[in-house]
Formats: sequence, C-alpha cells, structure tokens
Amino acid sequence: MNRLTALLLALAATSPALAEEVPATSNDPIPALVAEQYPALESLYQHFHSHPELSLQEESTAARLAKELRGAGFTVTEKVGGHGVVGVLKNGDGPTILVRADMDALPIIEQTGLPYASRVMATDSRRRTVGVMHACGHDLNMTCLVGLANVMHTLKDQWQGTLVCIGQPAEEIGAGAKAMLADGLFDRFPRPNYCLALHCDSRYPAGHVNFRSGQMQSNVDTVDITVFGKGGHGAAPHTTIDPVVLAARIVIDLQTIVSREIDPLDSAVVTVGSIHGGTKHNIIPDDVALQLTVRTTNDATRKQVLASIERIAKAAAVSAQAPEPKVHVDREQYTPALFNDEALTTRTVALFREALGPEKVHERPMSLGGEDFSRFILAGSPGFYYFLGSQPDDKVAAAAAGGPPLSRTHTNAYFPVPEPTIKTGVHTMTLAVLNLLRKKPE
Ligand SMILES: [Zn+2]
Ligand SMILES: [Zn+2]
Repeated sequence: MNRLTALLLALAATSPALAEEVPATSNDPIPALVAEQYPALESLYQHFHSHPELSLQEESTAARLAKELRGAGFTVTEKVGGHGVVGVLKNGDGPTILVRADMDALPIIEQTGLPYASRVMATDSRRRTVGVMHACGHDLNMTCLVGLANVMHTLKDQWQGTLVCIGQPAEEIGAGAKAMLADGLFDRFPRPNYCLALHCDSRYPAGHVNFRSGQMQSNVDTVDITVFGKGGHGAAPHTTIDPVVLAARIVIDLQTIVSREIDPLDSAVVTVGSIHGGTKHNIIPDDVALQLTVRTTNDATRKQVLASIERIAKAAAVSAQAPEPKVHVDREQYTPALFNDEALTTRTVALFREALGPEKVHERPMSLGGEDFSRFILAGSPGFYYFLGSQPDDKVAAAAAGGPPLSRTHTNAYFPVPEPTIKTGVHTMTLAVLNLLRKKPE
C-alpha cells in the first residue's frame, strides 16, 4: 500500500458525516507532488502577475487558465458569465466539489520593483487610463488552482467523484460570482455538494493559513451620492449654493451613523472613498460626486445604515437650501456576507493542522472585508474559504517589532512571496478536496 492510499484509507475510516476527529496525515505525499511541478507553477504565477487585467476584461487571463486546466485533463467551458472558466474532471461516482479562483486585477500602478512587475495600462469602465496590477494576489490564487488541478489529475486512482475548478471574473466589483450563477454554473455543470476557495493574505507569513468558522466577512454595499448646488464665481459665494461645502458637511455628518446610531456592540463601516467636484480654484461647481463603501454584518443593520445615509444627505441639502441630492445604492454591486460551514471548517482545519503543524494554522477575527464567493454558498452549496499567508517571515517579524509596516493587499507595493505560498496553497487545497472525494474502502 503506498503512502497516499494509506492516507486516503485512513480518511475513509472517519464517519461519512462531517466528523471532528481527523486522522494523522504524517504520510502525506502531496508536498512531493507539488514540488515536482513547482518550477512550472512559479513561472505561471509570474506570467499572470505581469499580465493583469481589470474586472470584466479578464480575456487573456481566462484563456490561459482554460489552457492550463485542459492540460490537467479537465473538460473546459469558457465564457461562463462573462470571462468565467469552468473546468470539470469527472472521476466516477461520488460528490461534486467546486474550487474557485478569482482572476481580476486592480487599477493600481505597480511599485513593487519586482523583475516581473506589471507595466500594463488599460482603460477602465469610466474610460480613464489606469495602471493595472495584481495587488490582491488573484494571480497566486489562480496558480494554486492550476497546481490543485494537476495534482488531482495525477492522483486520479486515489479518489472518486467530480472536481469542478472555476476561474471567476470580476470579484473586485462583486459581480463575477453572480454572473456565473446567472449563466447556469449550478445547472449546466455538476452541482457542487461543497465549494472551496483560498485567497492570499498580506498579514500572515507565507507557509501559514488562517480561517474563521461561521461568519467570516461582511455585507458590502456601494453607494453614489451626487450633491447638487448652484455654481458661480468663487469671489461671489453669496450668489451660489456651494456643493463643495455641502458635500464636506455630508461627509462629516455620515460619520455619526456608526458612532451615534449603530449599537456599539454591532460593527459597521461607512467610508467615503472618493470625492470629486469642480474644475478650478475660483469656480464654484454645480455638483460634487461622492463614492461610498458600506460594510455591515447583518441585514437589519444594512437596512438601517443605507436609510441613514439617504436621510443625512437629504437633510444636509435641505439645511443648505440646495436641490435634493441623488443617493444611489448600486444593487448590482452588493456582496452578501460570507459564512463558512462550521462542520466543513472544523474537519478541514483539523487536516491543515496535521499537515502544516498547529502553529501555522490560525483562527482569525471576523473582518469587514467582502468576498462574492459567498454567493456560491447562498446558492445552496456549503463552503469553506480560507486565507493563505504570503509575507516573508522576516518582514512579519520586523513589522511586529515596530519596524516598517507590511504592504497590504490593494496597495502598489504588495506582492505575495511565491515560495512557500504557492506550495502551501496547493498542498492545503488538495488536502481539503481529497478529504471530500475520498475513495470508499473496497
Ligand atoms: Zn481578492
Ligand atoms: Zn481584492
């Protein structure tokens, strides 16, 4: 009996229900299989990193991912919900497991100084020319998906069931999961019993993972406020209604929603991330545009915060004798909160602890980040989403000792250190999938 067979037989000996006890995996053969393909994975990672594409523009990224999945023996369908990629590997009777990687990059000019740094510029949806960078590590998430696909193909005689590996577009704008589901992801392809995903994390060292059982992330809403005034000469403000002053007042008033209206034991965020108005020092403009991100942990608070934003913006306009502002909650960009299945989390994390050592598996606090992987879970497939540490040990230690802070995701200096992050990602995800697709003992 080879070592993997021993591992899988040991796994199969656990109860078919999601049991808490998981056997030791000291004979884990996966790291050697990952090491074999590591050079190819690192060069694939560098390719993705230097060829980033914005949300909804992931055409060549999707084509490359599709090619890699075909190379791993998957039957691949492209253009599912935009640039979505669906790879299916059927391997006899058994459950269906979906593993997702996100594909889009961000409108940021990269400043990492890496030899494979992106120099890509693109036109965004508002026709602005922007730099493009994989500042959220989706390049690494995709690389881990390809590594998983290859290992699972190599180990085909050790498991049974169906593995669905998907490349999801437009995660950063909360649109891709919804679009793939609307295009029949759970109808045209095998419907998953469980779905899994990993994501780079910029706070933990490479080689570590972190997770949370139950609610992990928050509801995300996107709100646009257009403040109207009456423009005029900057030297004659008394003949105008100044929308810049009004917008400034609204920004300050919005701060009282979380501090004065929400139960202090609840959590919420109202951030005005963008404010634009006017063209010149001495012209009072006609309008000012505000862009907000709103984070809430439950539906009641979500409703309350969105209503407060509208009330506060309109009340400030009344007090300034300005026209009523336009408050638009973009329902298309809503991302529901992410809940990890508790039994699946417990079972999978126990395996991670065995494989990596308990000191490398961390429980994290809930965050007010958002992630549209939640949509696959809400569509009826219990899920587990976890984070992959990606920083060099020495940088984490220096930051903890009061040295330079770590570069965080969504900034121009962030990049995951490829090794051991990729190896840990492929290793842990393969363990998680094999655990759900284990072969029945004969
Ligand atoms: Zn991301
Ligand atoms: Zn992101």
